Amino acid sequence: MCDHTVAYFRDFELQSTIVEEVIEECDSWNKHVAVISSITRKTMGEGLRNPSDYFDGRKGYMAMFKYCPDCGQKIDWAKIKKSLKEK
Ligand SMILES: [Zn+2]
Repeated sequence: MCDHTVAYFRDFELQSTIVEEVIEECDSWNKHVAVISSITRKTMGEGLRNPSDYFDGRKGYMAMFKYCPDCGQKIDWAKIKKSLKEK
């Protein structure tokens, strides 16, 4: 029984928890940007992120595995991204 390890983000992340981890991280990042904006009095917007940004491999926010390092099964990223949209 393997709940595939799908990425390295804050730690090695499991398929069942990666979406929650990313949403949480994105939320705390956006709060951080809001604090910085209020201190510097600069308009925010550019620094904000969407959870989907983390699943964009080109942006490099996390190392996304093609295959589970534990069992070797191909990671179904389409399914993971779909579950993000459903949140
Ligand atoms: Zn696995």
